[in-house]
Parts: sequence; C-alpha cells; structure tokens
Amino acid sequence: MYYKLHTENLKEDYSGYEEVENMLINQEFINHLTPVEISFIRIGIDKLFKEKVTSETTNYENVSAHVTCCPHCGSKRFVKNGFNPHHRQKYRCKDCRSIFMATTGTMFTHSKTSFDKWSTFIAGELNCLTLEQQSVATGLSKTTCFNMRHKLYKAASKIQNEVVLSGDIELDPTYTSINLKGTKPKNMPRYSKHRGKSRKSTSSGKLRGINHHKVCIVTAIDENDNILYKVGGLGRESADILNRFRDHFSPISTIISDDSHSIQTFVSDNKLKSEIIPSSGTATPSGKTVSSTDELHSELKNLIRWKRGISTRHLQGYLDWLVLRKKLKYTLDMRKWKSEAYMTTMMEQIPFRCNEITRIPLPVNLFTAYGEYHYGIFSFIN
Ligand SMILES: [Zn+2]
Repeated sequence: MYYKLHTENLKEDYSGYEEVENMLINQEFINHLTPVEISFIRIGIDKLFKEKVTSETTNYENVSAHVTCCPHCGSKRFVKNGFNPHHRQKYRCKDCRSIFMATTGTMFTHSKTSFDKWSTFIAGELNCLTLEQQSVATGLSKTTCFNMRHKLYKAASKIQNEVVLSGDIELDPTYTSINLKGTKPKNMPRYSKHRGKSRKSTSSGKLRGINHHKVCIVTAIDENDNILYKVGGLGRESADILNRFRDHFSPISTIISDDSHSIQTFVSDNKLKSEIIPSSGTATPSGKTVSSTDELHSELKNLIRWKRGISTRHLQGYLDWLVLRKKLKYTLDMRKWKSEAYMTTMMEQIPFRCNEITRIPLPVNLFTAYGEYHYGIFSFIN
C-alpha cells in the first residue's frame, strides 16, 4: 500500500513534464528501469521537490487531494461548493448539509504553521525533544508547540484504536503513579507530597505497593509487532480492565504471561489459549518470554524520567506516540519516518480544540484515588 501511494503520486506529479509524459509509473515499471533511467527520473523528482516544497508550502496542499468523506457525519456523498477567501476548495455534504474543507477537524485546522515547520516539529517529536527544544527548532512559541504536540499525538491514536493482535501475544501490565502536572494548585485533590529525607507521610505503610494511587497500563504485543499500550484504570490489573480491550485480541491467539489470576480469568472468559511463565522462571516451558513488553515498559520509564513526569491526563497521548514510533522503527528506513508520521496523522479528526487540551478528561477517577484524603472538590477536576 505504501508503494502504491507513492507511485500514484509520482504518476500525477509527472504528468506535467514533457520528458516523462505518457509514462505509466508503477512498481513493475520501476523494477525494470536501468540505472541510467533511474538517475534520469531522479533529477526530475529533485526538480519537482524544489518547486513544490518551499518554506511557504502549506499543509492544505498535502491534504487537499485526500478528501474522502464528510468530517461531520462520515458520508461519502459530498459536492464541491466554491472557494474560501484563500482560494481553498469548500465542500458541501449532501447528507448533513455541512460545509467543510480538506483541513476541517484535522490537526491543521486554524493552524497557520507551514508544512515545513510541521515537518520539523514532527521530526523533533520523533526524537523526543522537550517543548523548549521544539520551540528553538521551529521558532514557534512553547504554547503553539504544546498544542501541536497533543493534536499530533491524538491523530496517532488511530493505529492503536484499530489494532487487532493475533498469534503469540505477550501480555503484561505496568504501573505508574498518578501525575497531576499542569493542574492548578487550587484544583489539586491532595496536598503536595513532602519530599526529602524527613518526610512524614500519613499514608506510607498502609498503602504501599500497587494500590489505587497507581495507574495500570495494559501492554500487549503480538508476533507481528502490533502493539496495544493503553491506560486501563486505577490499581492492580483485573479481568474487568482487560476485558475492556477484548476486541483488540483475535480469537485465535495465545497469551504469553505470568500466572496472574486476572490475566488467566481474561484468557478463559474469551476462550483464548495461554502459555504461562511460572513465578520461579523467566520463560514458558516452550521458551517464550515477555521481553518485548519489558522493552516497552522500560522505554516508557525512560520517557517519563526524561520528561520529568508525564501528566496522567496526557499519558495516553504519549503512549500512542510511542507506539507510532515503534511501528516506524520496525517497518521503515529512518529517513522515511518523518514523512510517514505526517501521512499517517494528517487526515485524522481531532476531537478537541487547542483551548480544550488542558481540560481533556482524566482517564482515571481521582475520587477513587484520593477519596481517603478529603471529599468534595473532585468535580472541578474530572
Ligand atoms: Zn456530513
């Protein structure tokens, strides 16, 4: 599919060039080219690139050829309906009658940032730059970078939302502390933690270990490197949490996990096969391990350390982006990552506006988490 997309574009782009006019460019054609013919075409491509991609190139130019349905109702019945003041094509949906453009609802809506800067920004995100570093790299403000980041991460969530794992699947949860970074002090559900050696925590002792102050992250990866990395909820993994993601598991799959009761309940609830790693060992009797999920866990830990904490509100976004990065790493040459990340995300609908990002609902219920501290103020946060 990847090649199809590119060769189709190639064909379109070439139609204006006299030298290669009437050439039908497809994979078979490319395979039969001689080295001198390929170098000839390459010069044509370089020329096209210089003409089409400048610092002024807009994101609209990338998405305008890909309008397939109405962003409001998903209908494919729409017609052209004039142009906006910037000479951009408008469409009218025949079903819900709304007017829309190619960028409507995507991460480029109301974004004045050029294609060039979005590309630079995406490259920075692939390299895990901080907001300060992104601001330096793109020349945009930290707030703009913050908004771009969370829209981009949301657009990347499609990969996980559509994934179905099959075959041998490693399943192993991980946990992270609730993090309320970015929450205003007056909205905090608890007093700030006392840090340092002489802390006297009221809760230490009776709430040690995995408790309801921890966020459970369901982690699964199959033999084809499809990944499910989702915030499951508060506290220890349970069959209930796992069953919420049952649609992501193909009925013909084998779950490789430890002997945890909740995972085995999930396995039998869904009539899956299971191979268990005994608590005394690191592999199943047939030698299978959960090393891939371990790798995902340590990457997340490193990321959290590098970012000096990730707020629980935005944790799923970071997981979605991590999964996209993994997928690129497994499937593509490094030099293609930036363009592929752009193409994967450019047409996705973003369900929030920039000014709503800091108010995206938390994926966990703080009332459950901090109920024992004090009651009554949670409605402000959740
Ligand atoms: Zn519609």
